[in-house]
Amino acid sequence: MGYERIYDSRTVERGKRYYRNNLVKYCVKFDNKLYGKVLGGELYSTVIDLRDYSGICTCPYRYNCKHAYALIEAFLNGDYIDGDRIFEDLKEEPKEKILEFLKEIVTRYNLWEVMIRREDSLLEEGRSILKLIPYERKNIYTFRSFLKNRFLKNARDEELLKLLEEVLSSPYFEEEELYEILDMIIQEVFNRDNKEVIERLFALAKRYNILWLVEEYYY
Ligand SMILES: [Zn+2]
Repeated sequence: MGYERIYDSRTVERGKRYYRNNLVKYCVKFDNKLYGKVLGGELYSTVIDLRDYSGICTCPYRYNCKHAYALIEAFLNGDYIDGDRIFEDLKEEPKEKILEFLKEIVTRYNLWEVMIRREDSLLEEGRSILKLIPYERKNIYTFRSFLKNRFLKNARDEELLKLLEEVLSSPYFEEEELYEILDMIIQEVFNRDNKEVIERLFALAKRYNILWLVEEYYY
C-alpha cells in the first residue's frame, strides 16, 4: 500500500485497533489529504498526506503515530467523508448562507487572524479589518489599534485619505467612535503638512458633513 515504509507493524496493529474500537471520530478526505480526530488520551487532530501516507498529529508523538494510522485505516475501509463533495455542494448555496457559515466558524473558533490578512498594502489591511466589524463589534478596537500602531505611522499620504473615505462610507460606527477615528486620521494629515493632500481633504469635507471638524484644525 505504501504506508508500510512509515508505520511499523506495531503502530499499524494499534491503529487498526483504534479504528475498530470506533476511536476515529471522523475522517474527511479533501484534496490529497485526510483530516480527522482520533480519541486517545484526549481528542487528537490528525492529518495524513495521502501521497506518502505521512501523518501529523497533535498527540505527544506528533508524527506517524497510531492515531495517524487509525485514520488511514478508516480511509482504506471506505469509512470517510468526501470533503471535495462538501465544497462542491457549497457552491450551490446562496452567498448569504455561505457568509453565515463563515461567520459561525470564525467567531466560534476565534479565527480572526485568518480573516485579517497581512496585505502588502496597509490600505488593504485596513479595508479588511473594516469589513470584519459587522461580524464582531470588537473589531472596531482592532481597527483603532491598527490605525494607531501601524497605519498612521506608515501609510503613504494619499492612503490616509483613501482610508478616511472608507471609514466615512462604513455604516458600522457609532457617532462617537466615528469622530474619534476621523480625528486621528485628520490630525495625521495636518501633521504631515502635504499641501495637495490637505486641499483634497477640504474637498472631501464639502462632500461629507461630518468632516466639519476639518475646519477646526485649520484655524
Ligand atoms: Zn497521534
